Amino acid sequence: MPTSHRFIPDLSADEISAIQTSGLNWTLAHAFAGNPAYRQKLSAAGYEPGMTLSLEDITSLPFTTTDDLREGYPLPLLSVPQEDVVRVHASSGTTGKRKVLAYTQADIDTWKHMFARCYELAGLSVLDRVQIAVGYGLWTAGAGFQIGCEHFGAMAVPVGPGNMEIHLQLLEDMQTTTLCSTASMALLMAEEVQKRHLKGKIALKKAIFGAEPHSDKMRRRIHELLGIEESFDIVGMTELYGPGTGLECCAHAGIHYWADLYILEILDPQTLRPVAPGEVGEMVVTTLRKEAAPLIRYRTRDLTRLLPGECSCGVRLPRHDKILGRSDDMIIFRGVNIYPGQVAAVIELFKELGSEFRIHLFRKGGKDQMLLQVERRPEADPTYDQNLSEAVSEELRKQVMVRAWVEVMGQGELPRSFGKTKRVVDDREAGEQ
Ligand code: ADP
Ligand code: ZN
Repeated sequence: MPTSHRFIPDLSADEISAIQTSGLNWTLAHAFAGNPAYRQKLSAAGYEPGMTLSLEDITSLPFTTTDDLREGYPLPLLSVPQEDVVRVHASSGTTGKRKVLAYTQADIDTWKHMFARCYELAGLSVLDRVQIAVGYGLWTAGAGFQIGCEHFGAMAVPVGPGNMEIHLQLLEDMQTTTLCSTASMALLMAEEVQKRHLKGKIALKKAIFGAEPHSDKMRRRIHELLGIEESFDIVGMTELYGPGTGLECCAHAGIHYWADLYILEILDPQTLRPVAPGEVGEMVVTTLRKEAAPLIRYRTRDLTRLLPGECSCGVRLPRHDKILGRSDDMIIFRGVNIYPGQVAAVIELFKELGSEFRIHLFRKGGKDQMLLQVERRPEADPTYDQNLSEAVSEELRKQVMVRAWVEVMGQGELPRSFGKTKRVVDDREAGEQ
């Protein structure tokens, strides 16, 4: 199978190591020569131009963090003369100050090639019609999905997020085959398609979901309402070109990532040492040919684990698990560390419940309180809400070790989003309620 790929390289572990070793050394020399902040940090760590490091030596290199991006604002980590920059993008700023990243033309080309691999891995052909429902403009999302689609050779239908009427019309008129969006946006669209009885008139077969974690439950509901056969989780971040740094393959057993374009380390966020193979830790990335804003051991704050072994899909590039959360999402509630993903996993156990939930934190009676609001599935009988809420509360106590109030709500009662859904509302600073 690998030989039939146009964009995805077929590389052995040794070949990947060789590419990573030369890419690492290129990046160090490039960042040292082009960026004063990198030069200072690398010198302090004992690096000198002309040195050749092995892959194992990476652990002696300094980290790059979001603070470095903030300090270098508005063009952090810039390592090329400004005349070589052809574009900037910025993150949606889910946490803290907007991160602005610069691109050279070669960076854009790398990105589009990397993204074309994603469409290839998802099994698209040049006949596919790809409706893009993510943000355009400053964000990397729309730009990435579009340049990747064009480079791959399929037809892009660039609508952007929101605009439900236009989306529905084009799904029908263009007979779009592939939807690219957040799972939240897809759910919103799916519910609209159901309301208007459009399922029989549209031709969607595949979807690519990125930018936020989503549960299997959410995915199943979207599939069911839109008549989608298969969907794929796509990962990426503004700092590392944008979306498209890896994709779930047709074996649906983790995400293949482009190890010939960046080195992925999984580190314990406290000790900053590698976790045991297969354990969850923070993704730390080093780019191998990124020009304008190279990354050296950049702490992404995203959590995942490496998946060992060969994938049954035949692609030899390595895999990591889906993104299990980001360290910024962690809630500390009465001394317990909780990720929204753990709550989603409990909800997954109850067939009466839908995928949508919201965690509300507040203060009452001098104590922190947690209210979990969760939607029931349309066919579930509301008469049993009380029993259901007690059962979910009990399961949360057992599995996540928190005591929470659970409110079961009707389908569609929680707010929907065109982009990333906000799962946690923290009013604890607002005083007693
Ligand atoms: P931000 O959200 O910080 O403003 P970006 O818009 O660049 O920045 O989004 C990148 C972040 O989105 C990633 O670091 C990760 O936390 C999250 N993300 C992206 N894709 C996925 C995915 N498929 N699953 C879970 N989280 C994702
Ligand atoms: Zn695979």
